[in-house]
Amino acid sequence: MKKGMAIKYAAKIEWRPYAPKPEAKGIWIKEDCDGKYIWAVEDDLYLIIRRTENGLEETERVSFDKARVMWDMLVRAYRQRRAILTEYEVQARCIKDEKWVPHNQRERARVSETSCCAAYEWASHGGLFFILRRTKKGYEETGRGLFREARKIWDELTRKHAEEHQKEKEAQRKKYKIGKHTPPRNRGVKERGQGAA
Ligand SMILES: [Zn+2]
Repeated sequence: MKKGMAIKYAAKIEWRPYAPKPEAKGIWIKEDCDGKYIWAVEDDLYLIIRRTENGLEETERVSFDKARVMWDMLVRAYRQRRAILTEYEVQARCIKDEKWVPHNQRERARVSETSCCAAYEWASHGGLFFILRRTKKGYEETGRGLFREARKIWDELTRKHAEEHQKEKEAQRKKYKIGKHTPPRNRGVKERGQGAA
């Protein structure tokens, strides 16, 4: 199954406020996914209950097979979303804290890319990737991890760097009161005129 399919499927499941039938013998809770989803059965029909901020909600009551498909998709989607979230959290923390640690140069890391102004270097060693920067004290590194994770941090750092350049440019423009476009006006005409004189 394609990644993200479970999330799409799960989004289409309809939920309504949880309402156990008064005449039923009771709802049997059979399984629980992190306390978020509950697999239940009532009078031989299966349903899933979920906890939300507004209280409990339930799906329609269906056969075992039908409910099981829903359950599998929900649990899969939940785990995928949680994995994505964790990934983003790690990334956000790394960028926010900008945790740079001393880099051991004896490791002989392979540098394959240098960013604008040589501010950062994209390096790898032993199958892991990280970002290097040179400071007065020597090299520092951040984001050591799998390609995808480290690359996100690299992208964010280089994006921030480019943003700094943009800000500098704006400041210069303001300082010298230069408009965004300063076409050389009538320069060609003047030169021709000078040549004729
Ligand atoms: Zn630069």
